[in-house]
Amino acid sequence: MSQRPRVVITDFVAGPLETERKVLADIADVVALDASSEEEIAGRIEDAAAIMMYHTVSITAQTIDRLKQCKLIVRCGVGYDNVDWRLARERGIDVCNVPDYGTEEVADSAIGMMLALTRGITLFNSRLRESKGEWLYKQAYPVWRLRGRVFGIIGLGRIGTAAALRAKALGMEVVFYDPYVPDGRDKSIGVRRVETLDELLAQSHVLSPHCPLTPETFHLVGREEIAKMPAGSFLINTSRGGVVDVSAIPDALASGHLAGAGIDVLEIEPPPENDPLLVAWRDPEHPAYHRLIVNPHAAFYCEEGMLEMRAKGSESCRRALLGLPMRNVVN
Ligand code: NAD
Repeated sequence: MSQRPRVVITDFVAGPLETERKVLADIADVVALDASSEEEIAGRIEDAAAIMMYHTVSITAQTIDRLKQCKLIVRCGVGYDNVDWRLARERGIDVCNVPDYGTEEVADSAIGMMLALTRGITLFNSRLRESKGEWLYKQAYPVWRLRGRVFGIIGLGRIGTAAALRAKALGMEVVFYDPYVPDGRDKSIGVRRVETLDELLAQSHVLSPHCPLTPETFHLVGREEIAKMPAGSFLINTSRGGVVDVSAIPDALASGHLAGAGIDVLEIEPPPENDPLLVAWRDPEHPAYHRLIVNPHAAFYCEEGMLEMRAKGSESCRRALLGLPMRNVVN
């Protein structure tokens, strides 16, 4: 009797696996390894017909070279920088992502951070709780009207576009830099394109990167770039940690050049305790204490999106096992 194919979930989802089994149970067995490192999946994944992976575990050559019959690796999420997709391609393995499970939520979080900072909401709240300053609007002085201010986007993809539409609804002027977007997207959603990052930086009252992490975008925004933004501007990062060099943020907040920053993603997650950004953020004497928002890579999160991500990842496995045309192949 031939064995049923196995779909192996490497990390993050430990069970119950009702969502995955609802899609796959008639054609495959689904198992979850609940691993926290690539070493932990060795010896448990070699016979997988398809793999679903999240962000805790990386899949590199050490795993790919041991796979005997794998047709597909699904990175259940958007960014696929933790799987060696080039090598997978060489071995004839498709790599898919689940591109859209959290598009609206990440955009909502970016805009939420912007509103919390630009309206003085976090500042009022944290100062009043500590009985600091007067019970007065002046605590957040100066607060500027958002309408007419420039919301600068790096990367007008799915999330960048969703953020653009939200910022437009607030009356902001949306400007973007994305060398890979063909002409016309700007016209279809009514935003303005600039040709260079410097042009974008020079006019962005709020800067929000929404590009992937690639060798080209690593530290795309750092000390020099922040210095090119208008004085008193805001920086939000919900893309990938490496896109912004956060070591520049404490000084920029201390000088007032940045009036606030919202950081959902860091290069190392969770970050080391002595990360200078966190040290400043925890220091009641540092402006970052009131003007910096740090979130634990949570912008994508909502219950519906989590289920959508698991179901869509499972559907990709189903298509691969049945030999149907694939969607969202990234390699
Ligand atoms: P997408 O692929 O739809 O869009 C990315 C855009 O970035 C594309 O338009 C691309 O042309 C552009 N781009 C690529 N290189 C660029 C460069 N050098 N300069 C300027 N633009 C560049 O991706 P998406 O679904 O919109 O996701 C955007 C980002 O959000 C990714 O980094 C992803 O990892 C991240 N993300 C974060 C969370 C979270 O929870 N914080 C969740 C999902 C996605």
